[in-house]
Amino acid sequence: MRVKGKRDSHTPMTLVTQISKCTLCADRFAQTATRHRPRPVPWFQAGTPIMVAGQAPGMRVHEVGKPFWDRSGDRLRNWMGVTRDQFYNRALVSVLPTAFCFPGYNARGADLPPPRICWDTWHEQVLAQMGPPKISLIIGKYAIERHLGLRGALRDIVADWRAHPPGVFVLPHPSWRNNGWLRKNPWFETELVPALQATIRETIASATTDTAENG
Ligand code: SF4
Repeated sequence: MRVKGKRDSHTPMTLVTQISKCTLCADRFAQTATRHRPRPVPWFQAGTPIMVAGQAPGMRVHEVGKPFWDRSGDRLRNWMGVTRDQFYNRALVSVLPTAFCFPGYNARGADLPPPRICWDTWHEQVLAQMGPPKISLIIGKYAIERHLGLRGALRDIVADWRAHPPGVFVLPHPSWRNNGWLRKNPWFETELVPALQATIRETIASATTDTAENG
């Protein structure tokens, strides 16, 4: 008999809970300068119309436990034209980094690459549970390689945005480190960003209408 308020010991853990408890990279992270413990930040749910596929949490996100809870996130939300409330509503936006944990820093103070084992262990299941999103924001070279199988200069891949499948937008990382890239490529904010915002506006309006009709 199931006791109200307690999880049946035979009930399988949800995928989010399984990922939250993952410690596969504990030894790897213990050898970095920050010697941190894994703190996965899974942020997704089935049927989300917008997927933000990025690299991996940074230190700030590692501390807070919420994706894009930093200045990069503010810039990303500006590019998307969404409020914080919309961004953190998993019925609208799921965030799927190529690794769910902060990987640590390299000798130059930049983030280490996301551990490949994370993608290999979790992502097929996560993508299957989410279902195909209407809009995919693919951010940075690791996500571009994993989701689109593309390699090469980021500028060329982003600049080719009209040739990508409908609903797929490849973006540079919204970090301050890319301010120079943004200055050199003004078309990104004058052409691509308005197209992205219009697509997201339509998708959110349609998702909101669907919810009202079904609710
Ligand atoms: S990065 Fe991924 S595989 Fe490694 S500990 Fe975190 S959740 Fe597990």
